[in-house]
Amino acid sequence: MANEKEFVFPYEKPRIGQLELVKSILNLSGKNSVIVVAAPTGFGKTVSVLYSAVKVIEMGSIDRILYVVRTRNELDPVIKEAKSIGIDFTVIYSGRKMCPLAIDKKISNEGFWAICSILRLNNSCQYYNKAKLTSIETIIDILRKFEDHYSIAKNLANKLNICPYFSLLSLSEETSLTIATYPYLFKEHIWFSTLSHIDPSKTMLVVDEAHNIVNIGSVMGDSMDIESIKMAIEEIRRFYSHDDEVVKVLNRLSMVKVNEKGYKYVNKSSIGIDKAFIESISSIATDIALKTVLRVKGSIDEAMNIDLKILKLSKFLNSLSNQYFDLFASTTFNGTIELFALPISFEPIKNIVELFKLVILMSGTPPSKEFLVDVVKIKKSVSVVDVEDFGASNYIRENSSAVIFSNATTSYRSRDEHVYKTYSELIDEVYKVSGNGIIMTVYPSYDVMWNILKYTKSMEFSVIDKGEPLSVIKDILFSRNKVILHT
Ligand code: SF4
Repeated sequence: MANEKEFVFPYEKPRIGQLELVKSILNLSGKNSVIVVAAPTGFGKTVSVLYSAVKVIEMGSIDRILYVVRTRNELDPVIKEAKSIGIDFTVIYSGRKMCPLAIDKKISNEGFWAICSILRLNNSCQYYNKAKLTSIETIIDILRKFEDHYSIAKNLANKLNICPYFSLLSLSEETSLTIATYPYLFKEHIWFSTLSHIDPSKTMLVVDEAHNIVNIGSVMGDSMDIESIKMAIEEIRRFYSHDDEVVKVLNRLSMVKVNEKGYKYVNKSSIGIDKAFIESISSIATDIALKTVLRVKGSIDEAMNIDLKILKLSKFLNSLSNQYFDLFASTTFNGTIELFALPISFEPIKNIVELFKLVILMSGTPPSKEFLVDVVKIKKSVSVVDVEDFGASNYIRENSSAVIFSNATTSYRSRDEHVYKTYSELIDEVYKVSGNGIIMTVYPSYDVMWNILKYTKSMEFSVIDKGEPLSVIKDILFSRNKVILHT
């Protein structure tokens, strides 16, 4: 698995602090510890940490690296640096996004995985069947040729006609570096069904943008709106006219009311949600998925357009079977009620961090040592390395100005047409006074973005991020002199 060659730092002139960071990580790596790396945007922490990791592999205390990032677009800088260092790697993200059969289909994630399992069980997915016969070298060849996650998956599907997801996943048993999105580490059921072949006691875990773990609900939690629960009840009624007990519990769940702001605790036992109930929903969901696929008589195209809410419900309830998770409800800004399965302690994060031989938590604003030791209660030794102590410059702090606009807020309860108009005027004004370059407008949600864009006059100079890979957006942006990116 590990490369035979000796690795060298890939850039001729390392930035101030990069080699010092490498040295610090190597010094601390023998301690079976957690290293918190504070490094500002633009420092080059990805290459420094990856280079340190391959050096630790050379020293023999670990034999692989698991590098997790929050979003798909954050995979690409890691791919770029893995290539510059020359380490063998694989990249794993949403199977639904990679699947050539699911392109442009309306299917939900949960529905997708149910259909994908049925297709694999029936030997009906040609991409999967061919992937099983394809050599690792052929897959690696595509990884070498393409620069970003999107092109890699697309070319595995289009050039080799193989399933990108399962090809890249099987490669993770061979490569020294696995680059994956957060759910592959933080969602227990995904970890167990995909990467559990990785032995944490011989692995360095790198968590990018590690400030996110402070908001544990955002990395481990799950949510489902009440309307989808009502639709799941209808699906059960269509297939199981007799299963009144299950429907009674779900009816109680769908009638949860929230009168106050914020999250309301909902006692799941008083509703009737227990292990046995969660298991019944799981088997009902599988059964309904099978029956639905049979109805479309093997048409993969039609199967990929089925959106069964019962599958989402089953996954949501499964999160609640974890002892550290509980049920909460909240009202969204448009008045609908959303249910949440949220962790009620930091124990799940602690368990993950303590599992790995060596952990690097890195960010421009990482969690503090006190938080990790006193709140998360990590028992391993925790060290903090701040690259500004080595004289590294903070590009953002030194090259930016802040303008505080206090005339509007996008907080849930203030959102209305007046607020949207105000923001659109602000964006048009910023465009007018700015010179050439890219103006990036970041919105709290797609919903807010589309509402503001209704009023924006500078639309012809705009590029809208509709969830495309960064590589695609980058090409469009770089073809213009002055442009606003809405994201
Ligand atoms: S096995 Fe088939 S259906 Fe499943 S992800 Fe791969 S290509 Fe898609």
